[in-house]
Amino acid sequence: MEQEILKLQGQAEEQLATVENGEQLEEFRIRFLGRKGQFGSLMKELANVPVEDKPRLGQMANKAKKEIEGLYTEKQQKFAEGSTRATGKSGQIDLTLPGRRPQNGKLHPVTQIMNEVCAIFESLGFSVAEGPDVEHDHYNFEALNIPAHHPARDMHDTFYVSDSILLRTHTSPMQARIMEKQQPPLRVIAPGKVYRCDSDITHTPMFHQVEGFLVDKHVSFADLKGVLTTFTQKMFEKDLALRFRPSFFPFTEPSAEVDIACVICGGSGCRVCKRTGWLEILGAGMIDPEVFKMVGYDPEIYSGFAFGLGIERIAMLKYGIDDIRLYYENDLRFLSQF
Ligand SMILES: [Zn+2]
Repeated sequence: MEQEILKLQGQAEEQLATVENGEQLEEFRIRFLGRKGQFGSLMKELANVPVEDKPRLGQMANKAKKEIEGLYTEKQQKFAEGSTRATGKSGQIDLTLPGRRPQNGKLHPVTQIMNEVCAIFESLGFSVAEGPDVEHDHYNFEALNIPAHHPARDMHDTFYVSDSILLRTHTSPMQARIMEKQQPPLRVIAPGKVYRCDSDITHTPMFHQVEGFLVDKHVSFADLKGVLTTFTQKMFEKDLALRFRPSFFPFTEPSAEVDIACVICGGSGCRVCKRTGWLEILGAGMIDPEVFKMVGYDPEIYSGFAFGLGIERIAMLKYGIDDIRLYYENDLRFLSQF
């Protein structure tokens, strides 16, 4: 019996030494350590040995089995480590692998441009004011010289909440809100979200605007030109030509659409500027005396200018993007480029 135990232990050790993979290891386990394995049979045979030999032989057989199990576990761990390194599977952690870096968040391109625009105007002495997205008809239209019957309301594609409450269609209501409460001199910009029922490659139902206005004594159109020229030079980091085209806004008189020389072709004509060499970037004008009268300023004493620009539009021109909807599709491949 003693011989048998030593022989079996020797056989097991010998076979285990030749095991080279998990499959062979499992074969080994079934043959020697499994329920119907050879060590199992050995234990059964121990039942037949004389009573006086049982403790000694039992101890010996158990010791042999334990040693083989120890060697088996060692081998099993070795294979598990190898497979972790090769495939990354198994529950084990491989401390030698490089770590996974958390992705750094960053500001949305529209927010970045918004901050840039605000910083430029702040450097020119403008303060920043924010107003409500849900606005009274009075501030959005009436106080800006757009009464109920006025055809200019048609251009605004307004979302109405009720008859007299709406989602603001521009940030210009801040003009009236601030002038009501404060006396000139005023230098203010009002950035924020605005809403219009409109959607195509150059329009989204929600977009961002910055309204700016300056009121003081002896303010002229030349001041407006100076401020806007400085702004475009700083924004596009280029000395771009500016063009003022006569236009109409109910709350400014005279009014102008302002174009800059195309940032892509420099004015010689390309696809982006539709071969004109110019890109429209904002609307502006001298504040209409009617607006001053409504907030109680004397238009004989005070004058001022106002302008409104679309942030998405500026970002499109600055980065050469041709579809405004890309900003709001939340595609990180697009957003992470800025
Ligand atoms: Zn061009």
